[in-house]
Amino acid sequence: MDFVVVTLFPEMFSLFWDYGIVARAIREQTITACAVNPRDFTKDRHRTADDRPYGGGQGMVMKPEPLAEAIRVAKRRLPEAPAVLLTPQGRPFDQETAGHLAALGGLILVCGRYEGVDERVGDSLVDMEVSVGDFVLTGGELPAMLVMDAVIRLVPGALGKEASAREDSFSEGLLEHAQYTRPRDFEGREVPPVLLSGNHKAIEAWRRENGLIRTFLKRKDLLERRGLQSEERRILQKWYRDIERLLDAQPLPGTDPSPGGQ
Ligand code: SAM
Repeated sequence: MDFVVVTLFPEMFSLFWDYGIVARAIREQTITACAVNPRDFTKDRHRTADDRPYGGGQGMVMKPEPLAEAIRVAKRRLPEAPAVLLTPQGRPFDQETAGHLAALGGLILVCGRYEGVDERVGDSLVDMEVSVGDFVLTGGELPAMLVMDAVIRLVPGALGKEASAREDSFSEGLLEHAQYTRPRDFEGREVPPVLLSGNHKAIEAWRRENGLIRTFLKRKDLLERRGLQSEERRILQKWYRDIERLLDAQPLPGTDPSPGGQ
């Protein structure tokens, strides 16, 4: 998969592209990544990439001509790739969107700065707007890295073991199970014994149950949105029965649990 980032700060990406899984994916040519700087398409002596907003008001706006030219250069490099503008006003980015984008051959990520980009550039050259959350950052570079990182993990071959992306949180609409590594006892807290049993079926069942219960406790909204599979319904019913049994065995203070009691 190929990425072109349109940014006034290409240097910000060098660290991101030089470390870890992303660096390995670039080295192994599973992905390619480069930047185009709108400042290279400015015409004035000062290489001005921003200007005052029409109508007055605070801050500056990215000038349309150099940005448009940079996006056109990116589109010539990747003619099939959509141009995605990072903006707090875009569609909220999530694992499902990452999956859709990872299925494409390429992606152009357009980073805004200042108060944002001139609306006319968005109208004519942007195919999709993406937000990384309901908060405002100073530039689109961190959001672009975040989107790239999530997408790259899903590009076949980018992770050493593809199963690890399939088991991640959100990939099945649930959070992932808890993870443990050595030591077996950390400050008095033991690893769940089943994980030491060597019984792969029991480990798999524990992980499914743990992921489901974690999702229920931390992100009930995910379950409400996605619905339950029959195995998950069975697990939750078991917990429900256990909780009922526990409550029945612990009467409210002041009531008599004996037959005929109050
Ligand atoms: N004035 C804009 C507004 O209120 O919608 C915010 C501009 S922001 C200070 C500058 C740039 O940071 C944006 O053009 C965008 O590229 C990027 N940015 C900031 N927050 C973002 C977010 N939550 N998601 C994606 N990009 C964001």
